[in-house]
Amino acid sequence: GGRLVVVGASLAGLRAAETARKAGFGGAITLVGAEEHLPYDRPPLSKAFLDRGADSAGACVPTFRPVETLRDELGVELVLGNPALALHPARKAVQVFDREIRYDHAVIATGATARRLPATEGLRGVHTLRTLDDAVAVRAALDAGARTVVVGAGFIGSEVASGARKRGLEITVVEALPTPLVRAVGQAMGEVCASLHRRNGTDLRCGVSVTEIQGDGRVERVVLSDGSTVEADLVVVGVGTEPATGWLEGSGLTLDNGIVCDETLFTGVEGVYAAGDVVRWRNPAFGRQMRLEHWTSAAEQGAAAVRNALEPAAARPYSTVPYFWSDWYDSRIQFVGLPQADEVRVVEEHVPGRHRCVALYREGDRLTGALTIDGQSVIMKYRGLIMKNAGWDEALAFAEQRRAA
Ligand code: FAD
Repeated sequence: GGRLVVVGASLAGLRAAETARKAGFGGAITLVGAEEHLPYDRPPLSKAFLDRGADSAGACVPTFRPVETLRDELGVELVLGNPALALHPARKAVQVFDREIRYDHAVIATGATARRLPATEGLRGVHTLRTLDDAVAVRAALDAGARTVVVGAGFIGSEVASGARKRGLEITVVEALPTPLVRAVGQAMGEVCASLHRRNGTDLRCGVSVTEIQGDGRVERVVLSDGSTVEADLVVVGVGTEPATGWLEGSGLTLDNGIVCDETLFTGVEGVYAAGDVVRWRNPAFGRQMRLEHWTSAAEQGAAAVRNALEPAAARPYSTVPYFWSDWYDSRIQFVGLPQADEVRVVEEHVPGRHRCVALYREGDRLTGALTIDGQSVIMKYRGLIMKNAGWDEALAFAEQRRAA
């Protein structure tokens, strides 16, 4: 019984609300979301939603559930269009605009927000890509045939590049580091991924940064640190995110690059659990703290956090081998585990359109990570090996077997 309040109406928050009902929770559920939209799915925003024009089939809004399902079947009260402003643990309440919503159980799933570049406010044509509204604006610019500069060769920026090339548009990607994705997949595989850009006609410039974005009211050109300039109608900034925790300052929650939680996603404040991109929790699978920004773990954490919130006495740890995917051109990149490694070994070489790439990551004598390109049929096998703590030799033997098969 009682009231469950979920703050953040996206993937993790929605999963929390759905899982509460599935688990038989009969009390009131309130889902609070800053955006006016019903909960929607983000990965398509930089993929199918962008790849083609606004009137194509993939272009529909990726809403998770119709309002009737949320309201009538799941009995969720939707409070959308205003951010929660504060959490008051002493009164067990969340403040939303001028209203205080009391909770008995709370799940915080406010996710992350895109980092912006300084001094670009008010310049039209400069966008981040985190929300549906962002994606609508970026797509409209692509529909108009924009010459595009992407700042940051991360996954989202790379997907934008891929979408622009599918439309035959010119695109330049500017990356400050010498290799893209070093933190996400390591140096060696960052290079391999970068080659996909070059092969598909994306102008990838590494080791340079953006000095200035110029234009008279709207973007006209981007000036780079090597002195060159690139003419542009659209700039997409993909330089990472920050956890959306500003509203929790002073609430008593521990904030340190995310809401710091224990293995059960408990914040340390009675009744309050956290899930998704906003959480930094101790992942028992690796015995260390991490904050993931991946779809699969956000969904799973939403479910795990609410189960624990509703029944704290029986709270169970949430443990996972991280997994994410990204679609570039006609290839799917997938990664499981952790990218920091003593050694990365390519055990299957990529032949675009013909053969998958498999790279294995070793720490000490264990398999700790795996990356595939077009390796949908094997990636989860490697995840399974990491999950069961497989040794490096066992992993190599398995790879050998798969290669022969
Ligand atoms: P979010 O989706 O960030 O949602 C948080 C919600 O909380 C937002 O709606 C926000 O408006 C709301 N909010 C924030 N502050 C407040 C407040 N104070 N009060 C109320 N509401 C608030 N992952 C993959 O694994 N593979 C992919 O291919 C992939 N592609 C992606 C492509 C894009 C363009 C983006 C943006 C992300 C992608 N991701 C991908 C990551 C994945 O979408 C996220 O991990 C996931 O959305 C996290 O869900 P979440 O619910 O934790 O947070």
